[in-house]
Amino acid sequence: MAPLAGERRAELVTSLGAVRARIANACIEAGRDPHSVTLIAVTKTYPAADVATLATLGVLDIGESRDQEAAAKVAEVAEAQGHGAADERGPSLRWHFVGRLQSRKARSVATYAHAVHSVDRPELIGQLAAAVTRAGRGRLDVFVQVSLDGDPARGGVAGGGVLALADVVAARAQLRLRGVMAIAPMAAEPHRAFAELAAASAQLRVAHPEADAISAGMSVDLEAAITHGSTHVRVGTALLGRRSQVFG
Ligand SMILES: *Cc1c(COP(=O)(O)O)cnc(C)c1O
Repeated sequence: MAPLAGERRAELVTSLGAVRARIANACIEAGRDPHSVTLIAVTKTYPAADVATLATLGVLDIGESRDQEAAAKVAEVAEAQGHGAADERGPSLRWHFVGRLQSRKARSVATYAHAVHSVDRPELIGQLAAAVTRAGRGRLDVFVQVSLDGDPARGGVAGGGVLALADVVAARAQLRLRGVMAIAPMAAEPHRAFAELAAASAQLRVAHPEADAISAGMSVDLEAAITHGSTHVRVGTALLGRRSQVFG
């Protein structure tokens, strides 16, 4: 049974406070401004009601990893927020697509996403650019996903391929190259993985100084990611609870 709305809200208030404190502490330890880190709440498997509650708590960056689920949730949240007078509507959300993206989903994702964090091949870049034009929208933010373990199942381009891919993104007027993204390999020490990502980011910024964002860090390793310069942490479990479904 779904929890009562008030109970769920109280749960989210508590978990959000804890996550914000973790981010702030990690920033202090690293000598960084806590405002330099954007918290993306990864709401996959959780309902639109949780997104709406998080929005009222000031979390406006929402992450999803499957198009079908995301598209439905975006519509549901918009519908809920659309009722009532314009000045009563919730603040607008930024949807971040963080999962592996199949080419045939590019068109759909471009209709609602503010950013795609998982761009790892040239065909996808062309498809996203065309989809942005088709949607008649502003530029789509793009992160190039870097593979830190060479495991193709987790997505990402090997370190050496980052620059070439970034050049392809930067050449598209419909896209804005933001930086790099990675998921720390399960087996590896997170500090080592995130240091490797930081090096890829530094290399990228030589050619594209504006692409200074680093999307890294999840529930278990956000502190390590912040130590190594993460600007966007993607947090699911620590905010919303353990997912009952297994996600890739
Ligand atoms: C699910 C997911 C997250 C959040 O993971 P948690 O461990 O629940 O914090 C972050 N990034 C990506 C790409 C994900 O798929």
